[in-house]
Amino acid sequence: MGRTREFLTDREVRLLRSPEEMNKITPSQKRTLFRDLRRKAKGLLDALANLAEYLPEKQQEQIFTVEALTPLVGKLLGWELKNRRTDRHYQLARQCFDYGLNICQERIHRNNRDAWPLTTHAFNDIRQMIWTSIPLPDKRKQVKVECPKCKYEFETRDSVVRCQKCGEKFKVGS
Ligand SMILES: [Zn+2]
Repeated sequence: MGRTREFLTDREVRLLRSPEEMNKITPSQKRTLFRDLRRKAKGLLDALANLAEYLPEKQQEQIFTVEALTPLVGKLLGWELKNRRTDRHYQLARQCFDYGLNICQERIHRNNRDAWPLTTHAFNDIRQMIWTSIPLPDKRKQVKVECPKCKYEFETRDSVVRCQKCGEKFKVGS
């Protein structure tokens, strides 16, 4: 973030809030604007992650609260988006769910050890359902491999695979 004192300039806020103002700028100005906004937003997310890691709890209590995060979470995951949701929205929801459920489960188990088998089973069922219906994007590159035993060809992202035809297990690239 360097020495930037304010996150968005007045001009940037004005442009974002007014489609008419936005229409007045040239395509090249618009490209520059959005590039700047992306850079700033990524920088701010990094900065917030740093604060969440290093800032004393007394200070975090005054920043990262349910109330303070509601507008952002609402804009990212709110019900108003229900007809405009993309895969990204579902993936963000799943990410919150994954982290959230682990924490809730830990507290339930700590408060009630007898509930352990029941909640573990129930929570795992829900996890499985959500993971199946909302996969996270796999950033690993898909490559074509050939089974060393039966020469069957298929695509994979894993480094160790089992042949889909004969079941031979082998290392990709060896
Ligand atoms: Zn094979």
